[in-house]
Amino acid sequence: MRRAVNFRVGIGYDVHQLISGRPLVLGGVTIPHHVGLSGHSDADVLVHAVMDALLGAAGLGDIGRLFPDTDPRYRGANSLELLRRVGCLLAQQGWRVINVDAVVVAEEPRLAPYLSLMRERMARALDLDEGRVHVKATTTEGLGFTGQRKGMAAYATCLLAGRE
Ligand code: MG
Repeated sequence: MRRAVNFRVGIGYDVHQLISGRPLVLGGVTIPHHVGLSGHSDADVLVHAVMDALLGAAGLGDIGRLFPDTDPRYRGANSLELLRRVGCLLAQQGWRVINVDAVVVAEEPRLAPYLSLMRERMARALDLDEGRVHVKATTTEGLGFTGQRKGMAAYATCLLAGRE
């Protein structure tokens, strides 16, 4: 008898403020820029959104629950390493990642030259083929907090497959 495949979609969203004196890390890539994202960890807004999508799809809560920002162990944490741990947790529970799709919302800098490296690094952290992880970037044409360069946002979705 064929066993049914159990599909789950997830959504993740994150925002971090832009401040001076911090590196800008997106999708595990450090991008030269005059300001960076503020946060307890490396503030990688893209990886955070991706982790929340994955955890949501698996019914495992969110990154705040898994890696609390009140915990000194996660100060300056490398978010790619946290993503790797999320991937392991999902695999332990029998989930396979079919794909991840994400959008970074940032007025500047131009992110196009870094998108394929972000995909490669996040795919590697999740032990996936690069083709299963996609990243896009958009501006908001000067509108809102992202347009005013006060912060960056990221949205992510994913599809997981597991056994019923
Ligand atoms: Mg965050």
